[in-house]
Amino acid sequence: MPTTDPYTRFVRSGPGRAIATKLGLPRPSRLPRRGDRTAAVLDPVVVLGAGTGAETIAAGLLDGGADVRRRFEDLREVGSVVIVLDEIARPTDIGDIVLPLAGAMRSLAPGARIVTISRPATGGAQDPATEAARGGVEGFVRSLGHEVRRGATANGILVADGIALDAPSVTGALGFLLSARSAFVDGQFLTVSTDAGTLPADPRRPLAGRTALVTGAARGIGAAIARTLAADGAHLVLLDVTAAGTELARLANELHGVPIQLDVTAPSAPDRLLAFCRERGLHLDIVVHNAGITRDKLFANMTLDRWDPVIAVNLSSQIAINAALLGAQDVLGTDPRFVSLASTSGIAGNRGQTNYAVSKAGVISLVPALAAQLAAHGGTANAVAPGFIETEMTAKIPPLPREIARRANSLQQGGLPVDVAEAVAFLASPAAGGIQGDTLRVCGQNLVGR
Ligand code: NAD
Repeated sequence: MPTTDPYTRFVRSGPGRAIATKLGLPRPSRLPRRGDRTAAVLDPVVVLGAGTGAETIAAGLLDGGADVRRRFEDLREVGSVVIVLDEIARPTDIGDIVLPLAGAMRSLAPGARIVTISRPATGGAQDPATEAARGGVEGFVRSLGHEVRRGATANGILVADGIALDAPSVTGALGFLLSARSAFVDGQFLTVSTDAGTLPADPRRPLAGRTALVTGAARGIGAAIARTLAADGAHLVLLDVTAAGTELARLANELHGVPIQLDVTAPSAPDRLLAFCRERGLHLDIVVHNAGITRDKLFANMTLDRWDPVIAVNLSSQIAINAALLGAQDVLGTDPRFVSLASTSGIAGNRGQTNYAVSKAGVISLVPALAAQLAAHGGTANAVAPGFIETEMTAKIPPLPREIARRANSLQQGGLPVDVAEAVAFLASPAAGGIQGDTLRVCGQNLVGR
């Protein structure tokens, strides 16, 4: 996939590469995405860990057709590493399991994947040594994310106590994090909190038979989400404002979707959406709240006309539409999936973005509450928090802060809209049914926040 980032284009050119090497400048690696790799998992896969959990994970990968090894031996190149730490009870247990990887770090293939599988720290339900060991795994993964090179990533799966390691969402999360679909996810954790979820009959079309609403679909990340959900087999309802009607119609034609021109902040928007779905007999199985705006200003210069629209589009509209859908069983499908777009600005804050950070931090707190409401419907709600993604929204940032924001992550580049779309598609899939109220960062391990 071509990059839109001029610096990266330059340092990948012949003369640019020589200059960057001489001056020690960052040389962002090409990140393999879906389509660049035929296999779902980069072989060989080394599974570390000695307990029954490690056996379960190795057996699952083997069933999926991976070339699974239990030690590095004299492998010249390693595609993937899965480190199973579910049984650790003391901080000293970690080193025994992870240290064999130290000697193999230089053998990691370009775009290699490292994934840990462990139990989450619970805030006190376990004894102090167990809590310390579990928390320690997070430090390990986040540090490894900063150390791996050549487009490799390190991420983790936290599996709640009592959930088996062959639960559908553990298999689903592992498949996502090992695949090229997680190209811009680095230093992050997915938490599997229940054993709900089902593995798709056809892994290439996990959303077959599902209908998805995407708001703000006409361009940028929304359009990429629509294309990715469609590629995964979903039928699309594409929503955007009237001013974006031409782009919206073009995308709806391309994806054989249904366009709806609607301002999500209009007081009548929830009712108009329900009426639109009822008239066409549409049942929404997936709702992606992507529509979003920025109106940046330092807080000293902040005014109501910059504050209110941001809160209205990015947050209040979601609350109103969700409430309407939860009250409309004839429109909301069974086992619905809600995915909201948050932002790393909502986690770490950002200069000039008090209004935007309120809206995005609000989204992060909204999803667990919505997840609790949806539990009765068998549904889930989660968020995706992008870091710097190359879109028209970030093209408006002045050149110097834009260049700093783009480079300030472990992968030294901005992500592409498709990277966010892949995370949304995973959280919208049947396999993610055990992931509830979580926020997954797609930020290349942006240096801000946790
Ligand atoms: P974009 O500006 O390129 O696209 C946003 C889309 O939302 C547009 O098509 C716009 O017409 C639509 N929209 C705006 N107001 C609307 C309304 N009232 N009703 C219906 N549709 C409306 O933005 P993007 O960069 O693609 O961002 C998409 C989402 O991702 C947003 O929620 C944004 O906050 C979030 N995000 C983006 C980045 C990034 O780096 N680009 C980073 C973090 C989060």
